[in-house]
Amino acid sequence: MRDDLLALSSESLVVLANVGLVKRAQKEVESGAGPTIEEADDGTVVAHSKDGATTRIPRNTTLKGAACSCGAATVCRHRVAAVLAYQRQFARTEQPSGTEASWSPGAFTDEALREVCGDAAMTRAQAFLRKSYLVTTRPGTVPVASLPASTVQFLAPNALALAKCDCTKGGACEHVVLAVWAFRARPEGGVFELGTADHESGTAALAQVESALRAVMMRGLSDTGATTELTRARVHADQAGLVWIADGIEDLERQKDAYDRQSAFFDSRRCSLLVGELVARIRASRNSKLLPPRWVLGSDEARETLLEQVRLISLGARLDADNERRFATIYFAERDTKSVLALRASWSFTGADKPRNGFELAQMFASSRMSVAALAKGDIVTRAATRRANGEIDLAFARGMKSSVLPGGSAWDDLPEPILVRSLETHEQRTRGRPPSFLRPRQIGDGVHVLAIARVVEIGYDAAEQELVAIVEDQAGARCILRTKHRTVSPGAVDAARDALENGARFVSGELCRTRHGWEIQPLGIGTDRLVVPDVEKPRSAEALPPAMGAHNDDALGATLHAFEEFVDRAVQKGWPLFVPAAPALAARLDETGLDRLGERVASFGAGSEDGFFDLLVLRMLLHEASADE
Ligand SMILES: [Zn+2]
Ligand SMILES: [Zn+2]
Repeated sequence: MRDDLLALSSESLVVLANVGLVKRAQKEVESGAGPTIEEADDGTVVAHSKDGATTRIPRNTTLKGAACSCGAATVCRHRVAAVLAYQRQFARTEQPSGTEASWSPGAFTDEALREVCGDAAMTRAQAFLRKSYLVTTRPGTVPVASLPASTVQFLAPNALALAKCDCTKGGACEHVVLAVWAFRARPEGGVFELGTADHESGTAALAQVESALRAVMMRGLSDTGATTELTRARVHADQAGLVWIADGIEDLERQKDAYDRQSAFFDSRRCSLLVGELVARIRASRNSKLLPPRWVLGSDEARETLLEQVRLISLGARLDADNERRFATIYFAERDTKSVLALRASWSFTGADKPRNGFELAQMFASSRMSVAALAKGDIVTRAATRRANGEIDLAFARGMKSSVLPGGSAWDDLPEPILVRSLETHEQRTRGRPPSFLRPRQIGDGVHVLAIARVVEIGYDAAEQELVAIVEDQAGARCILRTKHRTVSPGAVDAARDALENGARFVSGELCRTRHGWEIQPLGIGTDRLVVPDVEKPRSAEALPPAMGAHNDDALGATLHAFEEFVDRAVQKGWPLFVPAAPALAARLDETGLDRLGERVASFGAGSEDGFFDLLVLRMLLHEASADE
């Protein structure tokens, strides 16, 4: 009896093959036109198809590696039909999902690994352990292990050969071996460091980065020397493989560039938060006992990964403007790895070529063949896409791209959790125990979710802020505020968002933030019977809306905190030594408002210490994280 084949659900078959093949094979088998099945003494399943093809599936062989006389090198219809016919013959009844018990791939022995994956894969896996190697495990009915360059899904209990890897080999590879080892160490799930760390080069690079930050903070980001200093620090971090540090410095360099060009993209608050994050990551890598240093620094992230085949379901898009330049970010859900990826594109308009906005901008090509609008509403299957460590996806060399238009809300219905949020309460519990965002992997799609809307409570317009403000409820009645601001780059956004909310909105996508007003989201997309992407829609003239409920009351506490934040932000720009004389007054004000702990820190910064300023940077970022008030 082949329990491994019986345990394969149809969803798992889809992962191993694709939807089309599975549907066709299902029809064939159900109509009685499927193959006849024999099982040899050694457990090999032999299937004879009506079209003459013979398929042999021995034990411990991947579906791709099973021999089929049709000669296809990948999983073909015969192989899928053989599994389905076998299940039918032995009366596998599909269990409702969620009822299967969870199991751990850590139970596989090294002998089993060697038999299925081969000696070469074992040797390659061991070679990885000469350096540090980080794996994140997620238990469940289909346990998943995220490796630096690929993701392994264990599709059927006790069937190593049916573990799917998204590397080009597809399974029975060194990644499956490493994934099993990680599950042995971390059966309960979480991030684990396999192998031995080589801290030498990382330590030296971190010291370089830290001294660069010290130099820049002394003279301020506005100083002309800051650019060279930051670039040099990024190169050091990059060469030492500190991916999150290099990525963070790159963001800071973009801010410095925007400052020099006097661009609207420059954001002094963002600068403080970035420096604070870099300081926090460096400190945590030295002091944290809970998080592996290499996880905090991004040491084991592959800068780029080639995805053999990937299906991208659009979650909507955001357009941005910076003088004559235009940017689009399109967000996608990747079902298999339950991650959110993003595609970025930008254009420079010069001379007679006037900058485009909204609907017109969305007609521009964002990849070699598809417009922003088509991608932003699309369901795309492609080969040879590239994924950067930060979740950015590149379709420049993609092949065999197929796309269809998403049918709106229903396409998001079967997105996996946690991308899909049906209950804000559950989401809150899930996110509460996580490390703070400034120590987590730097992912563009971090925090982007689809929220299922049970009811639109109210829609209003804040004329002063030129902002559409709506309140929606999830199925349990928990509320979330939606905000769509009127911006020149997206002239149709407010009308489109309002229209969608008034006409059967079932889902909203965007970065789900916890603020002092509760949950908030700035819609990237709204699912009605079609998918509405506010930023790329045409404007329509609409009648006036009732004024929105006021959500801008500032109290004494808020004002004092704001003064503190501004103090830090300005010191980042101008260099902290200039601000030492002003510290005692601010410390006194914080004291008076009851923020004496914060006041103490500001007072000790007033003694003129560099580390004291780094403390303030981290505190400023923690305040932001706590209120997350965008
Ligand atoms: Zn075949
Ligand atoms: Zn692999």
